[in-house]
Amino acid sequence: MIILENVTKIFNETKPNQFVALKNINLHIQKNQFVILEGISGSGKSTLLSIIASYLKPTSGNIKVCNKQIAKLPDIHLSKFRANCIGFVFQSYNLFDNLTVHENLIASVLIASKTIKNPKEHIDKILKQTNIKHKEYELVQNLSGGEKQRVAFARALVNDPQIILCDEPTASLDVAHTQNLLDILKQLHKDGKTIIVATHDPIFRSLNNIASTIFMGKF
Ligand code: ADP
Ligand code: MG
Repeated sequence: MIILENVTKIFNETKPNQFVALKNINLHIQKNQFVILEGISGSGKSTLLSIIASYLKPTSGNIKVCNKQIAKLPDIHLSKFRANCIGFVFQSYNLFDNLTVHENLIASVLIASKTIKNPKEHIDKILKQTNIKHKEYELVQNLSGGEKQRVAFARALVNDPQIILCDEPTASLDVAHTQNLLDILKQLHKDGKTIIVATHDPIFRSLNNIASTIFMGKF
């Protein structure tokens, strides 16, 4: 499902502040694998997720995601590929602040060019699942951090992607909402999804029976 071969990412390659964030990463993640990405701050977790989601291009190496060589895919095809294949929960949410929760989800569906049979019902179900239904018609800018995090998670699920990538998804959630997120991830795993979560939240250790852990810096 996700194959990385000798992936290196160097930021500011031609400048004096050049920084090697990832070096010769080799990674094979099978369909329906659940991976926890651990590592100290700055170890490259977010960079790795961004490269898998094709938001960042590697400096060198090959990447295959959902059977597509994405490092070589022209930018014009990337947004549709992402919207269809990958649900990404950003650490900083990356929602449209001046749109409502509902509109944020609809925007994602439009980018994927998906035809959803009953969009109202579908969005309803996902917002209930992620405990944010009561804010459906609120502007995102009026939400708390934890609420935005749940909207970001709802948006990641709206196109029913095969792969779900989460970057520190519990950073602004309280205990009850963290547990709910874990329960949803467990269910998504049962449903056959491939999941990678970058986190240093120890609560994810409770998923040891279904998830494997990769420590960044120890490839
Ligand atoms: P993590 O998510 O594990 O905390 P990141 O992937 O965000 O780590 O960052 C890895 C390293 O790459 C950090 O030292 C960070 O400063 C650096 N880095 C990330 N993005 C950029 C960028 N766009 N330009 C320069 N350096 C960057
Ligand atoms: Mg990070």
